[in-house]
Amino acid sequence: MIKLYNSLTRRKEEFKPINEGIVKMYTCGPTVYYYPHIGNMRAYVFMDTLRRVLKYNGYKINGVMNITDVGHLTDDSDNGEDKMEKMAKSTNTSPYEIAAKYTKIFFDDLNSLNIDVPEHITKATEYIDQMINFVKKLEDKGYTYIIDDGVYFDVSKFPGYGQLSQKDMESIGVARVEENDQKRHPFDFALWKFVEPSHIMKWDSPWGVGCPGWHIECSAMSGDILGEHFDIHTGGIDHKSIHHENEIAQNDCAWGHRVVECWMHNEFLQVDGGKMSKSLGNIYTINQLSDMGYEPLAYKYFCLNTSYSKKINFTFDAIKAAQSALNSIRKILQEHKNGSAKVSAEVIAGYKEEFLNAINDDLNTPLALGVLFKMIKSEAKSIDIYNLALDFDKVFAIGLDRVVVEEVVDIPEEIQELAELRWQSKQAKDWTKADEYRKIITDKGYAILDSKDGYKIEKL
Ligand code: AMP
Ligand code: ZN
Repeated sequence: MIKLYNSLTRRKEEFKPINEGIVKMYTCGPTVYYYPHIGNMRAYVFMDTLRRVLKYNGYKINGVMNITDVGHLTDDSDNGEDKMEKMAKSTNTSPYEIAAKYTKIFFDDLNSLNIDVPEHITKATEYIDQMINFVKKLEDKGYTYIIDDGVYFDVSKFPGYGQLSQKDMESIGVARVEENDQKRHPFDFALWKFVEPSHIMKWDSPWGVGCPGWHIECSAMSGDILGEHFDIHTGGIDHKSIHHENEIAQNDCAWGHRVVECWMHNEFLQVDGGKMSKSLGNIYTINQLSDMGYEPLAYKYFCLNTSYSKKINFTFDAIKAAQSALNSIRKILQEHKNGSAKVSAEVIAGYKEEFLNAINDDLNTPLALGVLFKMIKSEAKSIDIYNLALDFDKVFAIGLDRVVVEEVVDIPEEIQELAELRWQSKQAKDWTKADEYRKIITDKGYAILDSKDGYKIEKL
């Protein structure tokens, strides 16, 4: 039995798919106007774990993830500039080039993190017709109105509005629309936005030239591929209160019933205890971590060490610790691979059960990693343990079969000379001089380890 936390009902629930054996699942993809950062990638590590846990339990998956390559404004509630056009302008390129560049980088990151990519990848620019049809459907049912800058959804017509994010309906009633805003209610949102003739990404529609609102994208694509009733919808916690609330309103009003059974949200990754921001200079990408010598899979291991539903704090000490823990697990596993002990079927079954209980309890990956760790440390070296660890790695997907090659550090000539001078001073029993040389060497980032008949230099 798999239990998943449903943000809509705010309970852990037993997962039962609508159709036996197959899970229909939608994931909000990235807006491809800039490099995805490690926080974004946490959302896709979470999607990956969910997909892998479902597959481990024998389900097939029909998954969809969108690529927002048009029209998402700098503010989630329909204000600000179009992110794609803004970036295109500042770099003197076209929004189409921007989208192509960052879509490729996004998929490279998914690949280096061993992320199981959904069966359908849908680009917003290729779904304009479906979006227009979805808006027409809402219009026919009386849920929309038109103002100067676009076609809007009228939230007062949907009694379920606010359920996901627990927006209090009283405050919805008294909240005021800002002056100069023609919206009837502050939470009303754009389905179709009219654009200036200078706007590059624009399309004809029954209401005038423009581009789709951001939220309609996910409703149109999920409806097109998964239909009017599907199992799971995932995304980061920041999407819960506006984007997903609006998706629910569009879906349930267009189809006339509840569309998504289970809403799941990953918590945020913070850096040094706070938000990542350009001004703080603390936005990192997977590539930057690689350049610093940390494997993308060490970042994944770091994510899996905390439940997806809890905040995590990224620090360089933490990624360093993750890399060294992952390496030591891999080293121990190589010893198991070459081990000759026999482990009984009962013991193997016991670990497998513990592992399954952990992952099926709302994807408790920290506990599942604990089971792996206990198993490889406490059992005699055996290929049976190695094989079971690789079976667990169908869920973790952190390359547990990789052989760790110790980095051979080239010692610079200058350090070798200093070490030799120190050795000679020691032979001459000039301890003061020998200590001086040791200090210079340490200050330059190397350590001297003396042995009976010589010394070894190591990088600190
Ligand atoms: P966006 O391209 O802004 O739509 O973001 C792509 C995904 O990353 C969404 O599911 C966001 O909710 C998620 N996300 C953004 N920032 C973070 C963060 N710091 N930690 C975890 N997830 C995030
Ligand atoms: Zn979405």
